[in-house]
Amino acid sequence: MKLAKVIAAATAATMLLAAPVMAEGTLKFATNPEFPPFEFITAEGVIDTYDGIDMAIAKMIAEDNDMEVSMESLEFDSLLVALQNGQVDAIIAGMTITDERKEAVDFCIPYYTATQVMIVKEDSDITCAADMADKKICVIQGYTGEICVNEMGYPYEAFKKGTEAVMELVNGKCDVVVIDSATAAKYVSDNEGLKIVEDAEAFEAEEYGIAIAKGHEDLVEKINASIEKFLEDGTIAALAVEYTEAEADADAE
Ligand code: GLN
Repeated sequence: MKLAKVIAAATAATMLLAAPVMAEGTLKFATNPEFPPFEFITAEGVIDTYDGIDMAIAKMIAEDNDMEVSMESLEFDSLLVALQNGQVDAIIAGMTITDERKEAVDFCIPYYTATQVMIVKEDSDITCAADMADKKICVIQGYTGEICVNEMGYPYEAFKKGTEAVMELVNGKCDVVVIDSATAAKYVSDNEGLKIVEDAEAFEAEEYGIAIAKGHEDLVEKINASIEKFLEDGTIAALAVEYTEAEADADAE
């Protein structure tokens, strides 16, 4: 065999080995279920104990493609590696599509638009991002919030989980937590004495996308077709309302 052919054959073999288990009819997802209302653990979720907007979307995509769905829990930092290893087929984790992440994986079309916001105490004097300059800032490790604060050049402390960062704030050990908008709203409704401060000029809009290992255009196309459908018929918008209102109702009780 010519060298080029050998390389081609070897590449094909590796691709087969690394190919996701889709052939078995199961779409294997991973998430980090520390990000309400998109993913969290509950007694009875939409996929096993996994519940949230993303979990409902994952299930709908699998059903739309006549496949079973499975969900695995990983650290947020490990999600893209699991994809590259072929451990799972897709990541759905409120993950913002960024140029840096696009170097490692492919993204399906965006399904949700969010932005970073600041959670502060109700009596805080922080009114815009620049006010964070002399404050103690908390972020969550590996989230786009950390990247934003880093780019602004402010020192910060990074936590593994959103709940940990919010506890620091509640306990008066920090002044502000920078995190995604819908998740911030959830934490503010769950904890007394907190509010959200927005700064649309400092924090750009972010788009969430499902990540797929590079080289699986067929899977990206299938998922894109489903997402397009669910965006057009309003299913995704309805899910977002359902999961944020469910919380508001529970809080009102
Ligand atoms: N959107 C943020 C990011 O992509 C946070 C995502 C998450 O925690 N699930 O970094």
